Amino acid sequence: MQHVGQEVTLSGWVQNVNDLGFMMFLNLRDRYGITQLSFNEEKTPKDLFEKARSLGREYVIKAEGTVIERASKNPKLPTGDIEILVKKLDILNTSKVPPFTIDDDTDGGDDLRMKYRYLDIRRSPVQQSLIFRSNVAIETRKYLAGEGFIEVETPNLIKSTPEGARDFVVPSRMNPGQFYALPQSPQTFKQLLMVAGMDKYFQIVRCFRDEDLRADRQPEFTQIDCEMAFVTREDILNTFEGLTKHLFKTVCGIELSDFPRMEYDEAMRRYGSDKPDTRFGMEFCELNDLAKGKGFGVFDNAEMVVGICAEGQAGGYSNKDLKKLTEWMQRPQVGAKGLVWVKVNADGTFKSTVGKFFSEEDLKAWADKMNAKPGDLLLILSGETDKTRKQLNELRLEMARRMELMKPGDFKPMWIVNFPLLEWDEDSGRFHAMHHPFTSPLPEDEEKMLGGDHETMKRLKANAYDLVINGVEIGGGSIRIHDRMLQEKNFKLLGFTEEEAEAQFGFLLGAFDYGAPPHGGIAFGFDRLCAVMRGQTSIRDFIAFPKNNMGRDMMIDAPSRIDEGQLEELGLEVKVGKE
Ligand code: ASP
Repeated sequence: MQHVGQEVTLSGWVQNVNDLGFMMFLNLRDRYGITQLSFNEEKTPKDLFEKARSLGREYVIKAEGTVIERASKNPKLPTGDIEILVKKLDILNTSKVPPFTIDDDTDGGDDLRMKYRYLDIRRSPVQQSLIFRSNVAIETRKYLAGEGFIEVETPNLIKSTPEGARDFVVPSRMNPGQFYALPQSPQTFKQLLMVAGMDKYFQIVRCFRDEDLRADRQPEFTQIDCEMAFVTREDILNTFEGLTKHLFKTVCGIELSDFPRMEYDEAMRRYGSDKPDTRFGMEFCELNDLAKGKGFGVFDNAEMVVGICAEGQAGGYSNKDLKKLTEWMQRPQVGAKGLVWVKVNADGTFKSTVGKFFSEEDLKAWADKMNAKPGDLLLILSGETDKTRKQLNELRLEMARRMELMKPGDFKPMWIVNFPLLEWDEDSGRFHAMHHPFTSPLPEDEEKMLGGDHETMKRLKANAYDLVINGVEIGGGSIRIHDRMLQEKNFKLLGFTEEEAEAQFGFLLGAFDYGAPPHGGIAFGFDRLCAVMRGQTSIRDFIAFPKNNMGRDMMIDAPSRIDEGQLEELGLEVKVGKE
């Protein structure tokens, strides 16, 4: 309102036009929002009125006029109290009718929005997400620079780094038959920077992984990547807890309290997940001691009987609903064999699928152990420990969704620490690195790693950590191995022959011969962090030009074929799909 009476010039796009005959209103959109322009028979010259009438949606215009108070105000808009009485109008460009409505709620499907992403970005929610991302990036740089970090760029045309996904490869014209790999992360380079004495490195960096895609995954994504030398795990966790708090405070105005830490084993026991959503409880309760040995074969033969208590849900679930819930658990995506339920009735009695096998007293003992009250619903699974926990994790999350326990605006960050170092894979008969092959075991496990037997290897703990917020893995890192012998041993455990290790990682092993300092680091998924901070599940709108689920850029139509000449120059022959 303080602008009333001022002469202004605005440029932007026509959002919509409301022509009342003797008066005309037009919403003009620019990066800063929407402003109403007005024209009326009394005050607007005839030729200007006619010109305004020729405008269509998304025309680009420049309008000059006087700010006046609106007769009917719009409280939904920041500029809703005023409008511009237009005196001069330039049409800077015309526009075809856009293929979808450019409004907060659009009628455009995903692929159409991606194809015309430049129109999609005109929509305020997408624009706001990109501005938000920019703010997070700027604050990240400010914070890390303040902590003495140096931003270093590492190459994109490299040799494969094993982060567990497939590489995207780029053929080399000058070296026929040879390929670069695009970095899955700058892992080895940042370690080499530590050997080089750079001490505190960071980079907001693009990484590439050829994986199956989901809403929270893109083939190219961005990391806040960091490494520090002469530090312990404590220094790294404190620095990046500090960064996270700084970002929430400066960008969202939210003060986070100190992040709790939980051991991997404990997270698996209490939540069946290494990224638990702790905005709500519904923790696991193991019932082996109470439920086994009572003649119910399914439980008696199970390694693990474990359940959750869904508060106040007994009344809301009919037998039919519970059957549906069981079927939901039996879908291949979850893979449970069945689901045992117990309703705690208001009068303290019980109703259960397994009522035949267990007495009221037995069921009461379960309910007591699970802290259940009348009206609660107990949901119990059984089977092999790891599988059952994973399935119950799915059920816990599903129940929380149904019960609306994941409150938007509530942020529960936590560190998960002490992951297993190695995972044994029966099929390939070899170990896989749980984080990556450069991760150090906990100091107390180093000796066991050098001399232990197979079973010992399965129990080694990594000096690795993940930051989790609201059930989403924001990032992870580790203290690295900086000793050549230990690194060689790790490669051996991971199934590399000496020659393979030398061929793939000789450069790193070689560097360890020249005074590698103790070091460690972390990387945050930047797109994901932005989405979580804004309470969203999809990372797409935080990426200006994302790809669809098939890894396609719908706008530029990539990937695409290249012509024969280019192929020849690269010494390549394409067999798949050749016409
Ligand atoms: N390079 C690792 C990753 O991309 C992060 C790290 O260990 O620093 O997950």
